[in-house]
Parts: sequence; C-alpha cells; structure tokens
Amino acid sequence: MRWTPAVLHRHRHGRVQCVLCPFRCSLKDGETGLCGVRRRSGDGLQTATFASSVRHWDSVERKPLYHYRPGAPCLTLAAPGCTFACDYCINHRMSQYGREDSVPWDAEPVDAEDVVREAAARSGCVAISYTEPSLAVELTAALAESGRPLGVEVVWKSNGFLTPEAVDLAARHVAAVNVDVKTLDERDHRELTGAPPGPVLDALTGLRERGVWVEVSTPLIPGLTAGPDTLRPIARALAALDGAIPWHLVRATPAHRRTGHAPTPVAALEAGVRTGHEEGLRHVYVERALGADGRATRCPGCRTTVVDRDVWALGQNSLEDGRCPRCGTRVEGRW
Ligand code: SF4
Repeated sequence: MRWTPAVLHRHRHGRVQCVLCPFRCSLKDGETGLCGVRRRSGDGLQTATFASSVRHWDSVERKPLYHYRPGAPCLTLAAPGCTFACDYCINHRMSQYGREDSVPWDAEPVDAEDVVREAAARSGCVAISYTEPSLAVELTAALAESGRPLGVEVVWKSNGFLTPEAVDLAARHVAAVNVDVKTLDERDHRELTGAPPGPVLDALTGLRERGVWVEVSTPLIPGLTAGPDTLRPIARALAALDGAIPWHLVRATPAHRRTGHAPTPVAALEAGVRTGHEEGLRHVYVERALGADGRATRCPGCRTTVVDRDVWALGQNSLEDGRCPRCGTRVEGRW
C-alpha cells in the first residue's frame, strides 16, 4: 500500500480538514478519515487510492451508462474504499477496505499513462467503478489529463456523496457518471448507507450544471426501496431537474449482510418503470428482468426504438447525429 499526496483539504482550528465528502473529517496528524483511505500527514493529506484492485475491459452499458457512447469499451479500475457502508454491497471485498477489519488491502499502484495508452488503443474510455471513484479523484485527474490528448475520457459509477468542492473538481475531469440514488428518505438512506441523502441530489445537480453527462441508478430492495413510497419521490425529483435523465432500476439480490429477502420481483420493476414515466421521465431502464424491451431507448417524439441493447452490450444504434431517424426528434445524450 502506498500513500500519495491528496487534494481537497484545508486548515481549520489547528486541524486539517478533508473536504472531499460531506463528512468533512477534521484530522489530527496521522489520523485516517471515516473512509479509511485518506489520512493526515503533517500539514497535508494523503490518499491510498492511486491504486486499483481490478484492471479489465467491459462495456459502458455495464456501468450502466446507456446514453453515453453506446457500445464503448471501458478499461475499468477500482480504487479500494467507499464513503458509504451499504449492507447490501456486492463489492464489499473492495469497497469496505478501511471500514471493515476483515477486508484486506488488495490493490496495485496505477500508472495513469499506461492505462490511458491501453484504452486509446481500443478507442475506449477509462471507468472507475465497483468502489467509490470520488475517493480516487487524484487518480481520476491524472487519467483525464493523460487521456485528453488521446481522446480518452474518464467515467464514474459513483454514490454521489461529494461536497460542492469535489463536484467542481470532478466536473473538470469526468465525462459521464452514473450516480446511485438509493432513496430520498433520510432514515432509510442512513440505515442503508450510514450517510444522509441530501448531498447526493445536490452533487448530481452540480455535476449536470457543469456539463457532466449524468444517469441515475436505484436499487429496488424488497421491503425497503422497491415500493412507490421510495420510487415516486426519486422519479419526481429527477423529472423536476430534467425528464431526459436516464433512470436505471436495478434488481436487488441478497448480498453481504442483507440476505433476508428474495430478488426484486419483476412486478416491482414493471411498476417502477410505470412510476418513472408517470412522473415525466422519458428513459427508464431495467437491465435484464424485462428483456430487451427494458433496455431499449425510444424516441421521445414517435416512440420508435432508436437504440436497442443486449445484456451489457450494444445491439444497434439507429440514431443519426443524436436524432431519431424517423421523426428527427433529438434524443438527449453523448452519442
Ligand atoms: S473522503 Fe474520507 S477523509 Fe475525506 S471527509 Fe470523506 S470520509 Fe473523511
């Protein structure tokens, strides 16, 4: 494990405060923040996240991002650590490093230029996923800076728990992000993640305002977040921002410490899609449980299928310069 200089901190009342996430840990010398991967060293801050537990190729559809360069290959990294402690996390062996004693360090330092060269060779992008990518904002910046001359962009799958300062910085380096909005209910969100939901919606809004392409995912956990009391407020909040925000409804299977439920029923996913449309969202997706229909992008004007997808892969993109080939309506996205 290697500690390297970190950004996003300030001096306050004799302490060094990390301002990356809304916990805003105020640290004594040598102390590590709640995330377990950022620590104070002297008058500065260090991070352990210039490293990755994985390095493999998958598709942008798997993030999931459906309206950003469909079919683009993504060289995917995951720096250990997370600002949330979700009890259903399927990636807890990577994400909970520093928060759970039973999770060992298992990552290698990253050479940003080498990663970007590999991505450029396949005209792909670099994704940071599985863990919380905002904790690796320094790595993100290095990848984006190396990637810019080669046309390689960086995308995130994030929990959205960022301060406005972190949003500002991330927006300069991240082209697209899928943000998890698990619930807007304060108590449920704290129970699931250990953190409040408010900053997530603020960050999502801030990223969009700064030009980052944003899609949203919501896990439908039976008995907690799979019902209309959770889904309707989220759909309403997203539609109030922009009805064109793609919303991915994610089937939950028992995982980690949340094992006492069955996989999300198909009927709950179907109801979620209807709720999204009723509230004014134009693109609501379900990856597998509703078949190809759940993954298809339809023209908001004439309902023609303009992008169809296989599981985690592009089928056919019929858009012409981002417009429906039949009626010419523009479909929002980075095509
Ligand atoms: S990123 Fe880590 S150290 Fe920084 S405020 Fe959040 S939990 Fe604390």
